[in-house]
Amino acid sequence: MPAGAGSAKRLGPRGLVADPAPMAPAQAPLVPGPTGPRVQTRSTAGNNRPGASPVAGLASAAAANGTSLVEVLQGVHGGSCPGELNFHCHTLHSDGSLKPEDLASQAADLGLRHLAITDHHSTAALAPAWQTLERLGDQGSTVPRLWSGIEISCLLEGCLVHVLGLDFDPSAPDLEPYVQGQAPVGQALRAEQVVERLHGAGGLALLAHPGRYRKPFSSLIDAAAVLGFDGAEAYYDYAMAPSWQPTPLVCEAIASQLEKLGLLRSCGTDTHGLALHGR
Ligand SMILES: [Zn+2]
Ligand SMILES: [Zn+2]
Repeated sequence: MPAGAGSAKRLGPRGLVADPAPMAPAQAPLVPGPTGPRVQTRSTAGNNRPGASPVAGLASAAAANGTSLVEVLQGVHGGSCPGELNFHCHTLHSDGSLKPEDLASQAADLGLRHLAITDHHSTAALAPAWQTLERLGDQGSTVPRLWSGIEISCLLEGCLVHVLGLDFDPSAPDLEPYVQGQAPVGQALRAEQVVERLHGAGGLALLAHPGRYRKPFSSLIDAAAVLGFDGAEAYYDYAMAPSWQPTPLVCEAIASQLEKLGLLRSCGTDTHGLALHGR
């Protein structure tokens, strides 16, 4: 397995909370994630942030050269998903239909380069997905680089929204209120709290599917920017096409607002069904 400088120290899933099974293959000790607050991830500042290592340094060129997630997200466009990048999907560990192992195999079959599984309030899919990708990589398959992910419900401007957390340290105590299998309550339900905790765990916070809420996406994105969100999910299939495609107009409007604000744009299928190329 190629272990490029900077990625070798974190070859295994970082401190998986919910899985007492073998935590990581023997070749790599688990190293706790960054402890301090994440250095700026807004706009262009995040390229060298310490939290940029992948959850799994899988056998891909990207893993070997240590590309940060911020760099990957800076290259996202309307055609990145579902064939190259997917930062939003669900497994049986929340309301999805796929086993993490099957989702990981499909991701490899699709030729994805980067993947994050974002179950609601759970990171339990990370370890089995990672193990599957490692096995496939060992067998010679090209596999995506797997990043930690989660989808968290919270209140933004009084509106119940979803936040995608990406590339955080899954063992970080900051995230404890958010990995209990259900939506947080009280203070923990506030968007500013979710962002602060994700940043404290070394991760990025992105507003999921901004066009799916009661309030207009433009005001939610503005509010998210003020609270320190790193970006939002720009490319999303609001129309639920048979094969995933970013919905015209709304996605372009969201992407251009994010660009003006200097925020990152992600993309994902939000797959809940059995095929990773559809929603
Ligand atoms: Zn959602
Ligand atoms: Zn989702």
